[in-house]
Amino acid sequence: MITASPSIRLSSPSSDWRELWRDAITDPAELLRSVGLGDRTDLLPADDAGFALRVPRGFVARMRHGDPADPLLLQVLPQRVEHDHVEGFTTDAVGDMAAKAGQGLLHKYDGRALLIASGSCAVNCRYCFRRHFPYGEEIAAAGQWREALSRVREDPSIRELILSGGDPLALATGKLEELSRGLADLPYVTRLRIHTRLPVVLPERIDAPFLAWLDAVPVQKVVVLHANHANELDADVDAACARLRDAGAILLNQSVLLRGINDDADALADLSERLFAAGVLPYYLHQLDRVQGTAHFEVEDARALALLDALRARLPGYLVPRLVREMAGDASKRPL
Ligand SMILES: *Cc1c(COP(=O)(O)O)cnc(C)c1O
Ligand code: SF4
Repeated sequence: MITASPSIRLSSPSSDWRELWRDAITDPAELLRSVGLGDRTDLLPADDAGFALRVPRGFVARMRHGDPADPLLLQVLPQRVEHDHVEGFTTDAVGDMAAKAGQGLLHKYDGRALLIASGSCAVNCRYCFRRHFPYGEEIAAAGQWREALSRVREDPSIRELILSGGDPLALATGKLEELSRGLADLPYVTRLRIHTRLPVVLPERIDAPFLAWLDAVPVQKVVVLHANHANELDADVDAACARLRDAGAILLNQSVLLRGINDDADALADLSERLFAAGVLPYYLHQLDRVQGTAHFEVEDARALALLDALRARLPGYLVPRLVREMAGDASKRPL
């Protein structure tokens, strides 16, 4: 019998999402070995700049073997360039975010309130503001939810409740049940939106108890996924998307425009086509938040706009995402 060395194990003994979550790769050298780059420890920085590597094994299995420029690998592997200090890339914006999120609820745009339901993620994406914002699970404590929901209840203008984070599906399904019991007391809320990367990075999360919960939610449901490259979607992700749709959810996707990962017209067109094949419509393509340690991912606005023109020329309009940037104080995400 041939047994794989534990150091290059890509499959897991269990299909329970909590076990798969805990079984994620967190050692950069192990990640490199897993993708056939075990001799390339020269790629690794001296430390992870305070933001640990974390990536589920199923996501690693979708990376190309032996390719240090693989678009999935580059989203999660700590790199030396993260240590460069670049003018304009700060942690300030994040501090502001942390202050607001501390209250658990962001009511920034008309009609929509965003609940920071969980601070955890199954994957640590190197380009994310979360690298400077290690907020914990405690945000999701039931007591804080009740307070946040009572603020939603008192405001009849709020028609849509958005669960975000971190990743709200990091919460146990039992916690989500508590939340939907709270929804019953919100007569003005007609839509529940969930922003989550889990159906992509850990599709096992979309299990039977979760689907039973989602199916029973008594308002319209939108699930906004987060994938940046077509290679992130495989048959398991397709199946998770199909189950989400069967439970009554409309599926959208948001991406971040990332240099070296998806900043060419072919990659973006492939992503849109691949999403649609999975029953998902492209929604937003975000310009990067200017967060310290992420400057190497930034794409200039002029090039971003040229890429969008190229997409418009070759895809149906409904497969072209909206290119936006988030600006403090704006009434919406700002179209470029
Ligand atoms: C992005 C965001 C929303 C949702 O905006 P849409 O344009 O409706 O997708 C809501 N609240 C906050 C705080 C956000 O950052
Ligand atoms: S899953 Fe989303 S919130 Fe979590 S690290 Fe990645 S981009 Fe950030």
